[in-house]
Amino acid sequence: MARLHEHQGKALLREFKIAVPQGRVANTPEEARAIAEEIGEPVMVKAQAWVTGRAEMGGIKKATTPDEAAAAAEKMLGMKVKGFTVEQVLVEEQLDIAREFYVGVIVDDRAQAPLVMFSSVGGTGIEEIAAAHPDKVARMHVDIITGLQDYQARNLVRRTGISGRLQRNLGGLLVALYKVARTYEARAAEINPLVQTTDGKLYAADCRITVDDYAVFRHPDLGIEIAREYDRPPTELERIAYAVEANDYRGTFYFIQMAHDFERGEGYIGFHGAGGGGSMMSMDAVLRQGYKLATFVDTSGNPPASKVYRAARIILAVGPIDGYFGSGSGVASQEQFHSARGLVKAFIEEHLSVPAVIRLGGNAEDKAVEILERVNDYVPAPVEGYKKDDSPDFCAARLDALIKAGELRDAPPPQPRPEPQRPYTFETVTGGTVTFDHAVCSGCESKVCVEECARQILSLNEEGLPVLNITPEEAKKGRCVECLACEVECLFHGAGGGYVHLPIPGLDEA
Ligand code: SF4
Ligand code: SF4
Repeated sequence: MARLHEHQGKALLREFKIAVPQGRVANTPEEARAIAEEIGEPVMVKAQAWVTGRAEMGGIKKATTPDEAAAAAEKMLGMKVKGFTVEQVLVEEQLDIAREFYVGVIVDDRAQAPLVMFSSVGGTGIEEIAAAHPDKVARMHVDIITGLQDYQARNLVRRTGISGRLQRNLGGLLVALYKVARTYEARAAEINPLVQTTDGKLYAADCRITVDDYAVFRHPDLGIEIAREYDRPPTELERIAYAVEANDYRGTFYFIQMAHDFERGEGYIGFHGAGGGGSMMSMDAVLRQGYKLATFVDTSGNPPASKVYRAARIILAVGPIDGYFGSGSGVASQEQFHSARGLVKAFIEEHLSVPAVIRLGGNAEDKAVEILERVNDYVPAPVEGYKKDDSPDFCAARLDALIKAGELRDAPPPQPRPEPQRPYTFETVTGGTVTFDHAVCSGCESKVCVEECARQILSLNEEGLPVLNITPEEAKKGRCVECLACEVECLFHGAGGGYVHLPIPGLDEA
């Protein structure tokens, strides 16, 4: 879920006529002072950070004069909140609060419907309110076709004991919030507290809106850079990883950078899972060995080898990790050797210098492990491959043993790839390029690329050289699935004439 900052959420509420306190964001103390002067009354200064409990962290302050507002902004701007820096503060009028409520519209996955909630008590989290005052919280599911009707919203409010004009006003506000949630495809749209001022008006004093990841592309106006719920701005590598995911619809690639500025020997592991539950179990196994995670990554849902390759390259760019651990679901239906080839290509290109333990359980796991273990002839660090019957704990213990042993081999240093003498080239669906050097291929006996090509789109021409048996346009549209066999199997069994170039925008420059 992609979360909006408070000031962004309030702009959406304003669009649907829900009153919010007068004010706007400031990037500097001077701007904060100017906004406070414009408002001409005591203000609140609020750090724009995706965390709860901002007040306790010093991220919400009252200011009675513009100078106080500037001083509060000065303290907050640049403040570290859960590892990220506050870059903006919201300066807005102080409200004269008579009463607080909670209103929320949340997608209830179990019911497959929006759930509208109202509480006649606000301020703290809705779970705490519901636990302490169950009679003050009312909920209802909404029919997505007919939407939330005025009478339904008023009824909901009535169930908490509120009547008369306040009931009507709150009902109208609930309907407006429901429209905000539907229009912006929010997973959750909550106003807490919703404040009634001493003159009887209703204001959204704070709000939290998260947009469905899969709907973000329909709302470019929201300026959401990455459709993930981070509690901080994304790192450069997270941006790079997200661009990979956005450019390739096949399978899922989820990347979170968990550590920055660490040194070798501090016990950070590049973690690469595959499949939600299995990834979690495997992550726990690494932590039980006393290590910390530099990354949490998941490539699952039948990702192509190229996606696994790009994921591994990004993991290896995170910093001086002590080891690489790949493990996820033990019973994947996809042929596991595709992932193995992606990992092998990345390890060779990066000349892997830390131990890697990879558990690729599931379909064709024997072949996957064979591919993984062959990479030991090309990189200095040991790589071990395991299957579904090898538990995550066993595999994590193997990684620990390899790290402690600290042994590196004399592997041949990476050689720059020679310019192909007779290149035969075509493009792939993610902007990659497959090249066969026909000068090399002419002396190759195995022609293993043709045999191992996942989609059988390669054939030998009259000269016995690998060429496409479809058009280059068809290959580019996705018939070449970037399985990497024509590079990896060629390296292991052929003459080294096949190469797949897969760009990762931003990585090589990062
Ligand atoms: S296996 Fe490699 S060298 Fe042999 S024909 Fe295929 S691409 Fe060329
Ligand atoms: S040409 Fe065939 S072997 Fe090579 S990457 Fe594409 S699908 Fe795989």
